Amino acid sequence: MKSDALFLQAQSFLPGGVNSPVRAFKSVGGTPRVIAQAVGAELIDVEGRSYIDCVGAWGAGILGHAPPDVLRAITQAAQLGPSPGLCNELEVSLAREIASRVPCAERIRFVNSGTEAVMSAVRLARAATGRDVILKFEGGYHGHADAMLVRAGSGAATLGLPDSPGVTGGAAADTRVCAYNDLEAVEATAAAEGERLAAIIVEPVAGNMGVVPPVEGFLQGLRAVCSRVGALLIFDEVMTGFRVARGGAAARTGVQPDLITLGKILGGGLPIGAYAGRADLMNLVAPAGPVYQAGTFCGHPVVMAAGLAVLAQLTEGAYTKLESAGDKVERGLCSALKAVGVSGCVQRVGSMLTLFFGVERVRNFADARRADHARFARFFQGMLARGVHLPPSGYEAWFLSTAHDEAVLDRLLKAAAESLLETT
Ligand SMILES: *Cc1c(COP(=O)(O)O)cnc(C)c1O
Repeated sequence: MKSDALFLQAQSFLPGGVNSPVRAFKSVGGTPRVIAQAVGAELIDVEGRSYIDCVGAWGAGILGHAPPDVLRAITQAAQLGPSPGLCNELEVSLAREIASRVPCAERIRFVNSGTEAVMSAVRLARAATGRDVILKFEGGYHGHADAMLVRAGSGAATLGLPDSPGVTGGAAADTRVCAYNDLEAVEATAAAEGERLAAIIVEPVAGNMGVVPPVEGFLQGLRAVCSRVGALLIFDEVMTGFRVARGGAAARTGVQPDLITLGKILGGGLPIGAYAGRADLMNLVAPAGPVYQAGTFCGHPVVMAAGLAVLAQLTEGAYTKLESAGDKVERGLCSALKAVGVSGCVQRVGSMLTLFFGVERVRNFADARRADHARFARFFQGMLARGVHLPPSGYEAWFLSTAHDEAVLDRLLKAAAESLLETT
């Protein structure tokens, strides 16, 4: 069946035809491609059309799709009889691997999604401090738990939904919001809240309003504020973990959070989340301590096996390769912009990047909103027509993988140069 027809049918059974709103082409127009297969850097839709993939499973796909070692690990673990619900060896191996990479991860709890990880970390931070208020940043996405659905970036921004109905005033009442990269606003909020501030949660490289790196001193400043007022610093590394460096942004920047959340890459393409941190904090989690959090499928051996197989390939050499792929795309896009005389900028950290049209620099969500999203929509369509599948929103990060080799990147950049011409 044709992609369009399938999507039409999907709308009779799934709200909006999708199982996650960011997959709909709401802000770029047209209908989503229904994907039949994904291999390496390539997506193939149900009509047999192929696309270079820059969605990268929203960041999870750092090795590209269906890497053979990971498939083998999944099959092997599944054949041993997936036995969720009891202890297994692989959950210990994966926890040990994380601890060896992420400096603050002394104890780790696996859950099933990034949303769950953040929800649990926030509960733990409130319990550990005996305080209620959480500070987040505008355009920062931390999953869809009620308290985090306040000015939450990508999905909601793409659809023009400022906040979600169904979130009670009570659930959102203890959430404060500052502009990303605005340390003065953070200082003011911390001063105003005093002993009520339990934690600051931040994407150490923002990726859910498009890629927005922290300015010099921002993360260090957050660390200092938290230490001074007795609040905890939570790095939400669901996207950046194992993406921007072998040990994530905490390792890359040298700033030590108290708690960290992980997901995406960690599951090797299967559903996962994790939260981790200092042993004294994590030991408050049940059954070591009183903070309740549980899950039927947590630490699932098939997922653990997939995660281990991915991390085994994420050596320093892999990050060198990802960095050079990112650098090539950044330089290629910048020179293509210049060649056609279109204003814009490319913001990148490692293998995650965003092309913002019509602005010179994006430091926060207000800047991201000022970008020319209509032009992005035209560019997106041009790329899709040339066989490159970008994330369908100007508020998203593009992800490259180790499967994006020179030939793939050359094709991507050629399509970009042609598509840019079309948008002028
Ligand atoms: C994707 C993401 C989440 C949510 O993870 P899910 O697995 O989709 O629930 C949370 N925080 C950040 C930074 C993310 O990028």
